[in-house]
Amino acid sequence: MPIVYLVIPCYNEEAVLPETIKQLIHKLDAMIAKGLVDQQSRILFVDDGSKDKTWEMIRRSHEENKQIIGVKLAHNRGHQNALLAGLMTAMEYADCAISLDADLQDDIEVLDQFVEKFQDGCDVVYGVRNKRDTDSAFKRGTAQGFYKLMKILGVDVVYNHADYRLMSKRALEALSEYKETNLFLRGIIPLIGYRSDYVYYDRHERFAGESKYPLKKMISFALDGISSFSVKPLKIISNLGIFISILSIAGLLYALISYLTNQTVAGWTAIVASIWLLGGLQMLCIGVVGGYIGKVYNEVKARPRFRIEEFLKK
Ligand code: UDP
Ligand code: MG
Repeated sequence: MPIVYLVIPCYNEEAVLPETIKQLIHKLDAMIAKGLVDQQSRILFVDDGSKDKTWEMIRRSHEENKQIIGVKLAHNRGHQNALLAGLMTAMEYADCAISLDADLQDDIEVLDQFVEKFQDGCDVVYGVRNKRDTDSAFKRGTAQGFYKLMKILGVDVVYNHADYRLMSKRALEALSEYKETNLFLRGIIPLIGYRSDYVYYDRHERFAGESKYPLKKMISFALDGISSFSVKPLKIISNLGIFISILSIAGLLYALISYLTNQTVAGWTAIVASIWLLGGLQMLCIGVVGGYIGKVYNEVKARPRFRIEEFLKK
């Protein structure tokens, strides 16, 4: 039976924690009783520098029940970093870790399926939302647009998958080799490449407290995801530059014809022609510079270049 750690990042979650803790202990006990997970499995809360009573609650629960453990971050470092802190802690003790949100929007009834797929030999199991009707139309639309844009930009992300997922110990070890500071876990984990599978679930509404992802944070998270994984925006500048340079030739012709047919004020031709030509050239040059910056960006990341999944020896 595997030792499973449930990893839950929390930021100012005092409104939901008591209920979350109750439900998770209940669920974990049921899984232990079923013989699905080991007794040493734990519920690991990561307090992401909360300003309310979150940490006191975690501490108190830990004293009452040793299945609950906690890590407290010194500052608010954001969801992704808090999650990473939790996963890296779990990596040392667990056979696999499952990450979920403190508000239990992710259905915990499917936790069994995650563990079953792990036992079937999957290293990563993605939780995928069946439908999004509990989210507002706006959130649904923007999220879906985001997944599509990521695809166009050549980033491999799992459609409708947030951060509800199981990772085996060796997948976590692989994750620890990705040293980037702009963390976008959803983009990195498919890069790990071990065997993976999906578990489908319905997403609930947050039962208390409010979303810690207001629009501003959502946009910056999305932009981070794009700029941490794709250099296509840089290439777009290059292409735009080429396009405008070509257009400038047409502009030039037009200016010349106007000049020759004497329909212009003196000096107009030279000004208009140089605006077009220079504009196009500048953009092209920025694009070239961008090409090199893109390379530097990828080198600086120093991501692992391969991962050996199996090793047949003798
Ligand atoms: N969270 C965090 N640090 C932050 C913001 C959020 O650890 O700076 C946690 C939060 O406590 C929750 C999870 O990230 O467990 C997801 O946040 P939320 O439910 O507010 O996001 P939404 O579901 O609305 O996208
Ligand atoms: Mg939520």
